[in-house]
Amino acid sequence: MQPLTGVKGMNDCFAPESGRWEWLEGQMRGLLHAWGYSNIRVPVVEPLQLFVRGIGEVTDIVEKEMYAFEDKLNGDQLALRPEITAGIVRAVIEHSALYNGPLRVWSIGPVFRHERPQKGRYRQFHQLDVECLGYPGPDVDAELILLTRALWQRLGLKEGEDIHLELNSLGEPAERAAHRAALVSYLQQHEAQLDEDARRRLHSNPLRVLDTKNPTMQALVDAAPKLLDFLGPESIAHLDGVRAVLDAAGLSYTLNPRMVRGLDYYNRTVFEWVTPHLGSQATVCGGGRYDGLIAQLGGKPAPGIGFGLGMERLLLLLETLQLGQGAVALDAYAVVPDGAPLGTVLPLLAGLRAKGLAVQMHAGGGSMKSQFKRADGSGARFALVFGADELARGEVNVKNLADGSQQAVSFSALAAWAASVAP
Ligand code: ATP
Ligand code: MG
Repeated sequence: MQPLTGVKGMNDCFAPESGRWEWLEGQMRGLLHAWGYSNIRVPVVEPLQLFVRGIGEVTDIVEKEMYAFEDKLNGDQLALRPEITAGIVRAVIEHSALYNGPLRVWSIGPVFRHERPQKGRYRQFHQLDVECLGYPGPDVDAELILLTRALWQRLGLKEGEDIHLELNSLGEPAERAAHRAALVSYLQQHEAQLDEDARRRLHSNPLRVLDTKNPTMQALVDAAPKLLDFLGPESIAHLDGVRAVLDAAGLSYTLNPRMVRGLDYYNRTVFEWVTPHLGSQATVCGGGRYDGLIAQLGGKPAPGIGFGLGMERLLLLLETLQLGQGAVALDAYAVVPDGAPLGTVLPLLAGLRAKGLAVQMHAGGGSMKSQFKRADGSGARFALVFGADELARGEVNVKNLADGSQQAVSFSALAAWAASVAP
C-alpha cells in the first residue's frame, strides 16, 4: 500500500531540530516570566465568525488564506485559527477575565493559513503571541517592543543589523476615514496602474491596497497620501509617547508610514521587526494596538495591544546566523551490555538525572559495538558503560564521545562528576 504523506505546507519536526524549538521556547518562557506575563491556552478551532468579524472580511487572511469548514456533525461553521489574538480576546470576554484588572498574557502554538508554501512560509506555522489587555498605553506599547528587543538580545541577534524595528500609527477611525477619502481619490486618479486585488479593494478596504506585495505597484503606493499626515493631536501624542520611551532606551527604528499590517483591527501603534536575511519572508514579528476589537467582539470596551512572532522564521534567522546552538540535547547515553543488572543501573541513572543531566538508557540489547554506534548517533556528549567488570568494582566507565578519552568513576563519585559536566 502507498504510505500516506502529510498535508502540503505542514511540517514534521524531529530531533535535533525539535531540540532547537525546545531551547527557543524555553528562552521565551523564561523571558516572559521575568517580565510578568502569564501563559494562556486557547483552542486551535474557533467559530468562523470570530475571524470574519475580528480580522476583517476584506483581508488576505479571511479572503484567501483561511481553513474554514463545516462541522459535519452539527453544521457549525468553524475555522482553524489563522492567528491567536482573536481567540484570546474571545476567551477573555467569555470569562470576564478583565473584571479584576488588566492582563498581560502569552501563548505559543500552531496557526494555519492556506498560502503558497516556501522557505519561511508554511500552511501550518507557529506563533509566539503576546497580548496586553486593558492597558491604554503608550507605556505598555513601548514595553512590548522592548520585550521583543530583550528577546533578540538574549538570542544574540544584533539590533539594527540582523533585525530592525519599523513603527507606524494607524490613528483612530475618524482619522482613517479622512485619510481614506484622500487615498480613494488618489487611487482613482491612477486606476490604470491598479492590479485586480487593488481595484476590488479600492472601495471595500482601500487601506489594504497599501499592504500589497505586488512589486509593480510599489511606486504608486509609496506616493499615496500618508495616514500619518491625518493624525489628530491625541494620536500624535500617543505615538510621541511610544517614541519617547524607545528613544530613552536607545532603540533606533524607522517610522514607516506605509506599514498598515494585514489585519483590520489595528489602530494607533503598529510595528514590525524585519530582517534583511530572509528574502521576502522579512517580517519576523508584527503587532499593534486594537482598542476597538474587544467591543467589536461583544465585550465591555477595553483597549488592547499585542504581537505575533513567527517561530519558524525566527529559527531560520538564527540558523542563518549560526546562533542558538544551545539546543536541548542529550548529555549521556548509557551502554548496558546484555545481562547487566538494571536494578543497579536504573538508580544510578536516576541520580544523574536528578543532578540535571539528560540521560538515555540503551534498550533492546545488542553487541557493545552496536550500542556504541547508537551512543555516537544519539548526539550525547558521554557514553556511560555499565560493563560487568566495572559494576563488580562499583564503577562506571565514562567515555567522552568528543575526544575518546575515558575515566572510571565510582558510584559514590557519580554525583560530583555529574555536577562537573552539567549543562
Ligand atoms: P507576511 O507579510 O510575511 O505574510 P503577515 O503580515 O501575514 O506576514 P502576521 O499576520 O503579522 O504576518 O503574523 C505574524 C508573524 O507570523 C509574521 O511576522 C511572520 O513571522 C509569521 N508568519 C506569517 N505568515 C506565515 C507563514 N505562512 N508561515 C510562517 N510564518 C508566518
Ligand atoms: Mg501574510
